[in-house]
Amino acid sequence: MQVNRREFLKLSGVSAAGAAVVLFADERKALAQDLKEHRITKAKEVPTVCPHCSVGCGMIAYVKEGELLQLEGNPDSPISEGSLCPKGAASMQFAYDAVGKANPLRQLKAKYRKPGATAWEEIDLEKALDMIAERVKETRDKSFVATNKDGLTVNRNEGLAHLGSACIDNEECYLVTKLMRSLGVVYLEHHARI
Ligand code: SF4
Repeated sequence: MQVNRREFLKLSGVSAAGAAVVLFADERKALAQDLKEHRITKAKEVPTVCPHCSVGCGMIAYVKEGELLQLEGNPDSPISEGSLCPKGAASMQFAYDAVGKANPLRQLKAKYRKPGATAWEEIDLEKALDMIAERVKETRDKSFVATNKDGLTVNRNEGLAHLGSACIDNEECYLVTKLMRSLGVVYLEHHARI
């Protein structure tokens, strides 16, 4: 077949683009296969829920030897059917930074400011939890109302309130509500309503 220079360039350009698309597709396939066969092989699949917002999209966490290897949408979730928004899809960043190292922004300590102080001090999470528990118990004991002015049993705690979070999942919401009701808390709200 006789082709002129213009036709030759046109034909070779189309072929090169086609080859590039095939190559790219092959590379993606190989990468996906590699991920499946090597990275998450024998990893435990832990179904979980995206912690970011109250949509509650389902996720699968792939965990091996205590290490989180991969987080992706759970196709069995009736809510999200495997999809995640960009925020949910970036949830690995809770644990790791962009190059796979432990995220330095992850908070492993609590900040505490003493009454009247102007500066924050860092304390261990364990200590912070103990301090919260002590204060909750003290406040609950001081402000518990067993009966109202008419002598009716009310068993309510008027000294504590709880503000929920859009960042916790359904199971956590359930547990928080149970805990608060068991403490007699009646001021139970959610910031999305405020
Ligand atoms: S993936 Fe996005 S929409 Fe779904 S729960 Fe997480 S933040 Fe909300």
